Amino acid sequence: MVNKATKPTDALIGHDSWNIQLDKNGQLKHFLTTEGLGSALLTQILDTAESFADVNEKRVKKVPLLRGKTIVNLFFEASTRTRTTFELAAKRLSADVLNINISTSATSKGETLLDTLQNIQAMHCDMFVVRHSDSGAAHYIANNVAENISVINAGDGSHAHPTQAMLDMFTIRRNKGTNFGNLRVAIVGDIKHSRVARSQIHALNTLNTGEVRVIAPRTLLPVDIESMGVNVFHDLSTGIQDADVVIMLRLQKERMSGALLPSEQEYFQLYGLTEKRLKAARDDAIVMHPGPINRGVEIDSNVADGPRSVILDQVSYGIAVRMAVMTMTLGRERETAADGEKEDNKT
Ligand code: ASP
Ligand code: ASP
Repeated sequence: MVNKATKPTDALIGHDSWNIQLDKNGQLKHFLTTEGLGSALLTQILDTAESFADVNEKRVKKVPLLRGKTIVNLFFEASTRTRTTFELAAKRLSADVLNINISTSATSKGETLLDTLQNIQAMHCDMFVVRHSDSGAAHYIANNVAENISVINAGDGSHAHPTQAMLDMFTIRRNKGTNFGNLRVAIVGDIKHSRVARSQIHALNTLNTGEVRVIAPRTLLPVDIESMGVNVFHDLSTGIQDADVVIMLRLQKERMSGALLPSEQEYFQLYGLTEKRLKAARDDAIVMHPGPINRGVEIDSNVADGPRSVILDQVSYGIAVRMAVMTMTLGRERETAADGEKEDNKT
C-alpha cells in the first residue's frame, strides 16, 4: 500500500506528463505511456526490437549491451508474465536484475513510497521497472527518482501499459507488414478498466492505423472514448466485420466496482469470440490477447488455440520489445558520453 501522503493522483498524469519521457536530445529517457510520443520514436522501438528478435532465437541468447547495469523490477501488484519477460530481457542484455515485490515488503510496514525508492536508489541501480495498481504511479516515481535512473511503466492502474502496447504493435507488424494505414483493428471487451487498450489506441493512432474500433457493452466503455479517435460498436459481429486484427481483452473483475455485468455466461453469449463469430473478420485476420486469458468468458478455447491466434507469439515478442526499450533508455548515456568527448576534443 502506498502511504496516503504520497499516493499518486490522476493529476500526476496530466497533459504534459509525457514530456518527462524524453531527454533534452529528444531521446527516450523513461517509458511511461505511448501517449504523446511520435511515430518516429515508436517505429524506432519496433525496429530495435526486430534486431533483438534474432538474438532470442539463437542458441546462446545473450548480448553484452547492458553489462554492468542494474535493473530493479519493482512490482507493487502481482504479475507473472510481465515480470518474467522483463527479467529475461534484462538478463539477455547482460544486466544484473533484482526483483522486489513490494506488496509483501516495506510499504506494508508503513514505509512511504518515497522512502522505499530512496533506499533502493542508494543501492546504485540504473533502471526501475514499475508495476502499481494506482494510475499515475510510474509518472510519480519518474518525477521523484535520481536523475540517472530510467523508469519503465509495466502497468499502472487502468492508465497505461506501454511495453504491452508496443509488443502488440510488433506482433501486428510481423504479421501484417509495416503499413498500418491499410489495417482495420478491432479491440473487444473491457476497455474501461484496460490500461492495455488505452496504450494500444494511442500507439495505433500514432502509427496511422486505417481504422481503430472498440467493441464493448456501454458499461465497459469509458465515457470519453470517442475522443481517443476510435469508432465505437456495441455488437460484436458488426464490430469485427472485415477486421484485419481482433484484439480480445480480459474482463478485469478485480477493477470492477458494482454490477457492470450480468454474468460471465451472458457476457460470453454476447461478446465471447467463437470460431463462428470470427468468420465476420477477414479470412486472414489474426487474433490477439494480452493474457491472462479467461477461456470461455471472452474467448473460446478453439479460437485461443486455433490457427489465427498469435497469443503466444505476443509473449515471445515481449522479450525483444522490452530489450529494445531497455537499451534505448539506458544506451543514451553512452551517446552522451561520446558527445562529451567530441566536445572536449574541440577545445
Ligand atoms: N496481468 C498480468 C501481467 O500483465 C498477467 C500475468 O501475470 O500473467 O503480467
Ligand atoms: N496483462 C495485462 C495487464 O496487466 C492485461 C490483463 O491483465 O488483463 O494489464
